[in-house]
Parts: sequence; C-alpha cells; structure tokens
Amino acid sequence: MLKTDVLIIGGGLAGLAAGSALEGKKDYLAAEREHRPGGLAATLTKGRFRFDYSGHLLHLRWPKTSKLILAALRGNCARLRRDARVYVHKSWTPYPFQANLSGMPDKVKAECVSGFLKAYKAGVRTGDGTETFSRWTRRVLGGGISRHFMLPYNAKLWQYPLERLTTEWCAPFVPVPKPEEVIEGAYGRRSEGLGYNTVFHYPKRGGIGALPNALARGLGGLRLGLEVESVNLKKGVANIRHFGPVYFRRLINTSPLDEFIERAEDAPAEVRRAAARLRHNTVYVLNLGVRGVKSDMHWGYFPGAEFPFYRAGIATNFSRALAPRGCASFYIEIATAGTPLDLASAETAILKGLKACGLLKSSSQVVEKLWLKIPCAYVIYNRERAGALPVIFDWLKTRKAQSIGRYGAWKYSFMEESVKEGLEAAEKLLKRW
Ligand SMILES: Cc1cc2nc3c(=O)[nH]c(=O)nc-3n(C[C@H](O)[C@H](O)[C@H](O)COP(=O)(O)OP(=O)(O)OC[C@H]3O[C@@H](n4cnc5c(N)ncnc54)[C@H](O)[C@@H]3O)c2cc1C
Repeated sequence: MLKTDVLIIGGGLAGLAAGSALEGKKDYLAAEREHRPGGLAATLTKGRFRFDYSGHLLHLRWPKTSKLILAALRGNCARLRRDARVYVHKSWTPYPFQANLSGMPDKVKAECVSGFLKAYKAGVRTGDGTETFSRWTRRVLGGGISRHFMLPYNAKLWQYPLERLTTEWCAPFVPVPKPEEVIEGAYGRRSEGLGYNTVFHYPKRGGIGALPNALARGLGGLRLGLEVESVNLKKGVANIRHFGPVYFRRLINTSPLDEFIERAEDAPAEVRRAAARLRHNTVYVLNLGVRGVKSDMHWGYFPGAEFPFYRAGIATNFSRALAPRGCASFYIEIATAGTPLDLASAETAILKGLKACGLLKSSSQVVEKLWLKIPCAYVIYNRERAGALPVIFDWLKTRKAQSIGRYGAWKYSFMEESVKEGLEAAEKLLKRW
C-alpha cells in the first residue's frame, strides 16, 4: 500500500509546477497517465520532424513564472515578434483584423470602419462577461468586423452557438482598438502592438516539449504511465490502474474537471449534475512536414467557410530545428463539437485550402504527416459554466482538494498560467498544512 502527503493528478505544466514547489518539502506523487510529461505542451517526434500539439508559444506576463520558465530553459529560448495574419476575401491582412483592414477590398474596409465608428459612438465599450458573444461583438466592434471576421471565425473555433457563448474570456484575447487605430489600420499604417501575443518566446531546440522536459528533470515524485481511475476524497484514497490504491492527505487535480468529478466516488449528486453541464470542443491538429515553403508567417486565421480549419501556422518559423534542412512544418487546426472527424477527407480539404491561400503549391511538397487529437481543447463559456463551477469548487474546498490548470480550473488560459497555478496550489497547501 502506497501512502503520500500529496497526490497530483497529471504531469502537464500545472502538475509539474506543483511538484517542483513541493520537491524536498513534502512527499508527493504526480501521477501522469502518458509515458511522457508535459500534457498538451509535449512535443512528439515523427521521422525527422518534431511536432507540437499545434502552435504552443510562450506568452510571459508575470515576473515569477517568467523567471522560472526562462531559468528552466537555460538559454534554449528565442524571443520572437509576432507575424500573424488573417485570410479573408482571398486576401491576407495582418492580425488583428479589426485594427488592420488594409488588405481588405475597399467595400469591406468601408463597411468595417463605418460599423466600428457607429458602435463606438453608441458608447459602453466594456461588458461584465455575461453578455453573449454575438451581441458583444456587434455592439463593441460593429456589424462589419463582426460579419467578416469575428462571427465566422469564432463559430468555427468554439463549435457552439455564439448566441449562447458568454464573454468572460474576451478581455485578454480579443483586442478592442481605438477609433484612430481602426482608421489608421484601414487606410494608413499597419497596427502592430495590439493583442496579448505581439512578442512571444519559444525554445530554440526541442519544440515546446523542451519546457516540460526541463521542469520534469529532478522531480522525484513524478511517475509516468499511471492513470488515476477513481478517487475518494473523503477517505483520501485513489485507485491507480494496474497499480492499486494510493492513500493521500491532500489532492491537486489538473485533469479535466468534468472527468475528475466523474471519477470522484464521493461527489454528491448536485456536484455531479453541475459537472455534467460543462462543455468543451475537440480540436484535431494535422501536422505536416513540407518541402519548399516560402512564407515567413507564424500563423494565420481562416474565418471563411471554404476552409475546414480555423487556424494554420508554420512551426519552423518559430524554430528551424523542428525540421530537417530544406523543410518546414505546418500545423493546421480543425475544431469539432465532439463528432469524430473523417481524417482522410479532412486532409484532402486541408491541402486544397493551403493551396487556395498560397501556403502550398502542390501536395507533392508534403513529406511527413502526423494527426493529433485534443479531445478537450477549449472549454465552452456557456451560461451553465458560471453556475456550475462554484458548486463544484465549493465542494472541493470542503475536501481540501484543489483543481487547477486550464482544464482542472475549466478556463481559457495559457501555459504560463498553468505553471503559476501549480506553484500557487503547492504554496497554499504548504502554508495551511
Ligand atoms: C489548440 C491549443 C493551442 C494552444 N496554444 C497555446 C499557446 O500558443 N500558448 C500557450 O501558452 N498555451 C496554449 N494552449 C494552452 C496550453 O496547452 C495549456 O494552457 C497548458 O498546456 C495546460 O497545462 P495543464 O497542465 O493545465 O493541462 P494539461 O496539459 O492538459 O495536463 C494535464 C495532464 O493530466 C494528465 N491526465 C489526465 N487525466 C489523468 C488521469 N486520470 N490520471 C493521470 N493523469 C491524467 C494528462 O495526460 C495531462 O498530461 C493551447 C491549447 C490548445 C488546446
């Protein structure tokens, strides 16, 4: 029978950060079901290529976590200036669309600028997050920008009715420009500084997986290939597949919250009902190794219905070391509401789309491919989420358990935030031991 002070479910960035903060202070077991650490921040090798789970770029905002991440990477990190674009009406224009309409046909530009100014004149720029996305975007960004980019792009990404999607997630992710920036971006200079990701970091070698690999080194309590099948928080015991029971005093969960509650034997009915109301989409990523690519672009957004994907990027423009000499690598993302994707026909449609926008000349350029599936990719900000989370978290508090990370906390967040939450969860636990 195994006993530990702290059981951590998951060895992604949140679990690794929690483990690193407990190392040498408490006995802990970080159980990761895969045979590699990193969760979504892992990098896989296929042939002579290294592929991430789509673009995974480091947006560093907080001093403590920035320092920890950069120290872990020990100089294996480049700082890059974003080159992101949007492909609309058969033209490329820089991202963000709302502040860079210069590449659009005159009629579209006029519709977007006049719609924005009309919305701006009507006042009330912010919202409290409860407004639906379809209403918010029309009210704040205007009819044109909404029709040509915001509505079709977000419908493709979220795979959820935008009339029911709330807007708590918008503030950091959807830049709202000033009127002069919209006019300048349409008729004058390119607007570069808007959005959360104008500058980002990425490992020079090893893909984003270099970060979790570095964090995992020296973690005495990390165990790979251990899947937590069930937990009983009241009794302080977890059952691990092919391993048996593990007794713990405190628990930190980083696995998807809905699945975790399903596995919690002692969760009361109202907590189960709350978890059953949570929704997420699924993302399929086609990674391609490609010869003879000319573009310097980092990634592009594709709102048009003629493209099955919402975003496509060129990972070798973050790091040349991801592909052999003379080759580039693409990642192309398709979201679904959970229905299985027919990979063969999706691939045909993707190649057609890449050729239509000029990123690829011929399918014969493709020399390697790897499909990756992210079953729980973006948590859905539906009305039910706001009501369900307090019910679940209040119960977890009574059991002295914490659920953190992008999926444990059920939010739209980034790698750095998972690291931050891992550190904070461990610190909280040590303080109140
Ligand atoms: C398409 C996409 C693109 C993204 N791009 C970026 C980006 O550019 N920049 C950025 O900063 N962030 C990005 N993110 C977000 C980023 O991936 C996450 O914020 C971060 O990796 C989450 O780390 P985590 O540890 O919270 O969760 P995870 O990485 O999901 O880790 C959870 C771990 O728990 C394990 N696990 C689950 N169930 C069990 C179980 N029962 N027993 C044992 N182990 C279990 C899983 O295998 C996994 O390793 C992106 C996400 C997606 C979906």
